[in-house]
Amino acid sequence: MVTHVKLYNTLHREKEIFTPRTDGEVQVYTCGPTVYHDAHIGNMRAFMTADILKKTLKLAGYTVHHVMNITDVGHLTDDGDAGEDKMLVAMRREGKTAAEIAEFYTERFVTDAEVLNIDLPQGKDMPRATAYIPQQIEMVQQLEAKGYTYQTSDGVYFDTSKLKDYGKLAKLDLENLNAGERVSIGEKRNPTDFALWKLSPTNAKRDMEWDSPWGKGFPGWHIECSAMSRAIFGDVFDIHTGGIDHIPVHHTNEIAQSEVACGCEKHVNYWLHNEFVVLGQGAKMSKSSGNFLTVAGLQEKGFHPLALRYLYLQTHYRKSVKFDWDILADAQTALKRLWQRSAGVDFNTRNQTAQLSEVIQIALCDDLNTAEALAKLWDGLKQLEGAELATMLWQAEEVLSLGLANAQQMLDELAKLTAVDDVSAELQELLAQRQQARAAKDFAQADALRDKILAAGYKVVDTADGAKLERI
Ligand SMILES: [Zn+2]
Repeated sequence: MVTHVKLYNTLHREKEIFTPRTDGEVQVYTCGPTVYHDAHIGNMRAFMTADILKKTLKLAGYTVHHVMNITDVGHLTDDGDAGEDKMLVAMRREGKTAAEIAEFYTERFVTDAEVLNIDLPQGKDMPRATAYIPQQIEMVQQLEAKGYTYQTSDGVYFDTSKLKDYGKLAKLDLENLNAGERVSIGEKRNPTDFALWKLSPTNAKRDMEWDSPWGKGFPGWHIECSAMSRAIFGDVFDIHTGGIDHIPVHHTNEIAQSEVACGCEKHVNYWLHNEFVVLGQGAKMSKSSGNFLTVAGLQEKGFHPLALRYLYLQTHYRKSVKFDWDILADAQTALKRLWQRSAGVDFNTRNQTAQLSEVIQIALCDDLNTAEALAKLWDGLKQLEGAELATMLWQAEEVLSLGLANAQQMLDELAKLTAVDDVSAELQELLAQRQQARAAKDFAQADALRDKILAAGYKVVDTADGAKLERI
């Protein structure tokens, strides 16, 4: 017996009761990270959404087969066909081989996921694009045999004008897109056409290249996901997840090539997309600024990684979520209270055969409404006690994964992270300069210095004994 789960399907722009292809079983594919850099905290929201989906389906009684790829070739600096391969950029930056870069950042990604209590797929269910080159070439050959491709001087392209329903996921307005196109599209026939196979430059050896029927080169980013999901799940599967930024290009192109290759009307039945994380003042996400936010960076500032999980869970995955240091501090305070309450609960008294609690049924099974689930969890803490409370918390924890079942350990970890430390000499110097600026009534300078101190994770507190620094 499974409990019904409702999901918002981007394909139809509405909430639908999820029906799997096989009773009781679900296949979920998630577009994974491009392992050329640390993941910033915004990226992690997509993986957390997939984690909540997977755990909700499991709790609802399904067996879940989850696959998430690792992109280690072919993702260009521009999501379209322009720019350089991100892996080559990283090789130059760090003086390492592509394999070393991929291994290093895959490991870092796995660590980030672990501390956020995200369950990643294991082994072959986390396939690397470079391990599926023959399958990608085979798919391009099939598209070629069906007449959907053409060749230019730099690669093999998918001709999107051949496909009647191209752009159906994004509801792209192709006529306007094509008519309004002013930028050069080079040798492409239509602005929306995309690379399936890119050829290496004729005058230079590329660091990552493979032989193909069209010449030495490398696969386009989109074909990777199509080939890997097909190799593991087959032509058709249940659910595909990713960030909303994937809708207009990456997922639109996955659909085009997969559905032509398999000759099926729909290769994925449900598409789930999470909204962005919007960064507030003092928390810029730009990688070029050199201080973009990582999970490890939050810990350095005295935050428990699960505070970020709590912060994300407070907002439904289809709404954008705001991040700044104050909001994270509030989330950490709320989570600490939750841990303090849970630490006194005896989970051995829980009823393991109890029906799913209201928290799960009403909130999570309704399009993964984690915000509602948290609200109900707080209500439950006020109203329930004993075995009932233990059962509700345990079920919620199976999906929300906030460390409630080992709350005392979480509290100890938090105490260590927020322990008063020796403020560095550099920060003390900034504080002294700020006090001088204030004394000189140069408030603009004083504010600028205060912002620098804030960015390092401290706030200035004015006390009777003078100004002091405190961790945010
Ligand atoms: Zn993908």
